[in-house]
Amino acid sequence: ATPSAILAATGAGAKKGILIKSGQYLESADKIDEILLDKTGTITSGQMRVAKIITFNGESKAGLLKTAAGAETGSEHPIAKAIVSYATENGIETEKYSQMNLHAGLGIEAESESSKVFAGNIHFIKNSGIRVSEDVHQKTDEMSNSGITSVIISRNNEIIGILGIEDTIRPESAETIETLEKMGIKNISMLTGDNEAVAHSISKKCRIKDENVYSGLLPAQKREMVESLQKNGMTVCFVGDGTNDGPALAQADVGVGIGSRENTVALETSHVVLLRNGLKSLADFIRLGKRTTKIIK
Ligand code: ADP
Ligand code: MG
Repeated sequence: ATPSAILAATGAGAKKGILIKSGQYLESADKIDEILLDKTGTITSGQMRVAKIITFNGESKAGLLKTAAGAETGSEHPIAKAIVSYATENGIETEKYSQMNLHAGLGIEAESESSKVFAGNIHFIKNSGIRVSEDVHQKTDEMSNSGITSVIISRNNEIIGILGIEDTIRPESAETIETLEKMGIKNISMLTGDNEAVAHSISKKCRIKDENVYSGLLPAQKREMVESLQKNGMTVCFVGDGTNDGPALAQADVGVGIGSRENTVALETSHVVLLRNGLKSLADFIRLGKRTTKIIK
């Protein structure tokens, strides 16, 4: 590898907002067999918003939001940001909790002297020992089927409501996936901690094959998927936003982070950071790697 070719390529990348931490990643880019894409914040914008509010057991919407937003102040997840900003925009004061406990890829637990709150997906609520009624199941399924992520909120062992959180697919996602296929990448998959129905509603919009969609994955399981592909001799590129996918980004042969002004997590854990244009720059990076490797050879 000639240092000058690598230097030229990293310089060219930087101009396009592609931060390449070491020349070795340009060489790996030429060998990529598999691209694994995280869903939230990578294929989608991660700019989530509250789209639906359902309350149970006589709870008021304001009461539900006060509790939910209070608990979510302990999380940096795009879901948490959506809930907190929705409450703020609607002039709802958030409840104060003295203890917060984050469960990556599941939800959050918050506690004050008078109450204990869980906010997260259905598995998280069930595993926290809370009884989930048929009605809650049905409402959650309905949301999932229309691509909305449901956050269930319980206070003192009783479910008080569900917040439906909507994400938008990045306009360039479908186009980029097509470009990557044309560049000869064998397999392009989507990984997510979200449930199967939501995962499929997103994958359908961006040309990812049904058999390449993996849902309900915890951060450690995303990493394990990368590792098992590597054991089969594959060069793996994982693309994520750093939220709940840090271990997978670090494990990958090339961990590509989607960066932004608000998101510095991706900067720390990944090998390559796309500072502008999200997923669109991924094809540019791989092209740059291919070109540089040809010069090196
Ligand atoms: P993705 O893989 O799509 O980026 P994550 O692994 O970040 O998703 O999260 C997986 C799931 O865990 C979410 O879809 C949501 O149901 C739940 N979850 C994670 N963080 C939170 C939170 N702060 N509040 C509520 N639910 C959460
Ligand atoms: Mg994520």
